[in-house]
Amino acid sequence: MHEIIVAGAGPAGSVAATVLAQAGRDVLLLDRTGFPRDKACGDAIAWGAVRLMLDLGMGEAVRAAGFYPIDAMRIISPRGAVFETALPAHEGLTSCIVPRETFDTLLWTHACKSGANFQIFQVQEPILHNGRVVGVRGRNGHERDIRAQLVIAADGATSVIARALRPDKAPDRHRAVALRAYVNDLDVLDHMVEFHFTHDLIPGYAWIFPTGERSANVGVGMRLDLFRRKARTLKQMLHDFLSRPALAGRRHSQSQVQDVLAWQLNFGSYVFPRVYDGALLTGDAGGFINPLTGGGIHNAMITGKLAAEVALHALAEGDTRRQVLAPFEAGWRERLWPNLRLGYWLQRWLVSSPRLTDWVVTLMMRYPRLAQVFASKL
Ligand SMILES: Cc1cc2nc3c(=O)[nH]c(=O)nc-3n(C[C@H](O)[C@H](O)[C@H](O)COP(=O)(O)OP(=O)(O)OC[C@H]3O[C@@H](n4cnc5c(N)ncnc54)[C@H](O)[C@@H]3O)c2cc1C
Repeated sequence: MHEIIVAGAGPAGSVAATVLAQAGRDVLLLDRTGFPRDKACGDAIAWGAVRLMLDLGMGEAVRAAGFYPIDAMRIISPRGAVFETALPAHEGLTSCIVPRETFDTLLWTHACKSGANFQIFQVQEPILHNGRVVGVRGRNGHERDIRAQLVIAADGATSVIARALRPDKAPDRHRAVALRAYVNDLDVLDHMVEFHFTHDLIPGYAWIFPTGERSANVGVGMRLDLFRRKARTLKQMLHDFLSRPALAGRRHSQSQVQDVLAWQLNFGSYVFPRVYDGALLTGDAGGFINPLTGGGIHNAMITGKLAAEVALHALAEGDTRRQVLAPFEAGWRERLWPNLRLGYWLQRWLVSSPRLTDWVVTLMMRYPRLAQVFASKL
């Protein structure tokens, strides 16, 4: 019997495990794969996520990794209007582009160094006793039950723990699908991220996030309800985007599209319980992605840390019932809900059609501060 199981060692799980281990708790961190491992992502790390890493004592590791800093943003409207703005540093920190293979491995390594006990283990379902989560059932070679006083679900967008516990599934308009690829031998704008709002993707967009001098993470993302109405795959949409004359002209003879990977996104605009008797849902397992930008890493880390803090309190009380874990709900609502709600309404009403998006981009040119809403998670 462990004190805490953290299921999933992405940003949410590794942060939760680090905070718990640093407090001297017995924490078992599980993931279905070992590290390093890839994850479908645009690789844009908000400056606040870097701040959180420093707070956890990762300064040396962050400096040694040499993150690619971002200091400007370009938005291209459907009719081709171009808006550019600087992204000022906050507390001396900028947002960065870091391949998830590197980023997640840094976080996972730090969790292990902090004292979390890691095992490769595929969680299949939570173990329930009288409606209360008392552990997880899963496999590493053979089927096994692992018991704990508390389970923190951090097993991502397809969380088996969330699926077993939550009363319903989010409607498609609160979800998205996205696909990323790495493109080399490509003209990129140094240290500037690009968001292309094309007719076929709105209110989603295509992105070009530079990873180096002539390489970028390039991808497309779309709300799920709108995607289901299209007769096109995400791969075809990425191909269309890269074939546009403006883009094709930026690719050179050696340019290749590699490591194409798609995954789901759960927006934080859909409200459902994230707290259960003996369990908490964090990161994508709890659905905390910004519905406007698609950014979820920072929110995953915030909810991982918050879950760990609430868990420490519950363990000290010797009680992991839902009412003792309730401060997690209050905490994420206070920290994240205003931004999630704003992102949802902007996505639903402001960038809901090509014409409106053209108008918004024109407005940004006049009032550049408007663009900071979009940049807030970068
Ligand atoms: C194409 C795409 C682009 C994106 N771009 C950005 C971006 O640029 N910036 C940004 O901030 N956000 C972006 N996001 C969102 C971001 O990727 C997620 O919000 C973030 O990864 C959430 O972190 P997490 O720790 O909750 O989950 P994850 O990162 O998904 O980690 C979950 C972990 O759980 C493990 N796991 C899953 N199931 C099980 C199981 N059954 N048993 C054991 N382990 C399991 C997985 O192996 C994984 O290690 C993007 C998403 C997509 C799909």
